[in-house]
Amino acid sequence: MAIILDGKSLREKILTELKARLEKYDKKPTLVVILVGDNPASKIYVNNKKKTAENLGINSIIINYPADISEKVLLEKIQELNEDDQVTAILVQLPLPKHINKFKVINAISPQKDVDGFTPENAGKLFTGEKPYVYPCTPKGIIRLLDEYKIPIEEQHAVIVGRSNIVGKPLAQMLLQRNATVTICHSRTKNLSDITKTADILVSAVGGKIIGKNMIKPNCVVIDVGIFKDENGKTRGDVNFEEVSPLASYISPVPGGVGPMTIAMLMSNTVELFEKNHL
Ligand code: NAP
Repeated sequence: MAIILDGKSLREKILTELKARLEKYDKKPTLVVILVGDNPASKIYVNNKKKTAENLGINSIIINYPADISEKVLLEKIQELNEDDQVTAILVQLPLPKHINKFKVINAISPQKDVDGFTPENAGKLFTGEKPYVYPCTPKGIIRLLDEYKIPIEEQHAVIVGRSNIVGKPLAQMLLQRNATVTICHSRTKNLSDITKTADILVSAVGGKIIGKNMIKPNCVVIDVGIFKDENGKTRGDVNFEEVSPLASYISPVPGGVGPMTIAMLMSNTVELFEKNHL
């Protein structure tokens, strides 16, 4: 039976360390989260981020714009926040409404305040091997989870299902830097299970029930990034946990695996930006 990769406990450990780190300073970081529209899932995420930040002693400001806000107003606000010395970190909650060009918005964030690590400068640095200001939260959380359980990365074949800019692509770069051999799969990949069965570390970031027992190699490490509500309204991951956990060596559950790590890494990135730019 697989060992559970307990992201919830690790989150608590990381937050305790960050709180102690911040108590040494007489100033506080300020994290500004911009939310456009009233997507219920986004609202929950944003409120969780605010609560977690405040518990650590991070000032947290949510700017909530209506869904029909113009791109121009949003870009002007980001410029104002870039220039505000009190602001440590800026996060624009995705997805954005269709009339707003998300690339333009992300590009507008100062790379030094880009707490998600999504700006072209930070993403480019990750790609070329130069150190970005911060690493994207979900991939960073996955690597931290693997390291906590002393799971080897070097020389392992890591298969990532999903090629988004926020999970699949940056994670592939980070695993490459740790000397894994990386394969990225997506919706047009042929014979997906033939590839996933060769993984020593299998990461699924799709958002649908996709990984069953016939898709994994015995004893592989399974990281489930997906989150969605099933037909009964229950929160689920991409992996059929009941089927896969008896075969895997390690498995991250949903909820309680990668999700808590993402928020812990957001806090960690805020503290890192504060220490780099505000002290
Ligand atoms: P995304 O941008 O929607 O990307 C999904 C990826 O899955 C795409 O690359 C897509 O391929 C691929 N895909 C879709 N159907 C597939 C199939 N049948 N076979 C193989 N690949 C398939 O999603 P995302 O933003 O990366 O998020 C993915 C999931 O992770 C979502 O459930 C999201 O809620 C969750 N998530 C969780 C956390 C966390 O902290 N736990 C953080 C971020 C995201 P194409 O590129 O070909 O379309």
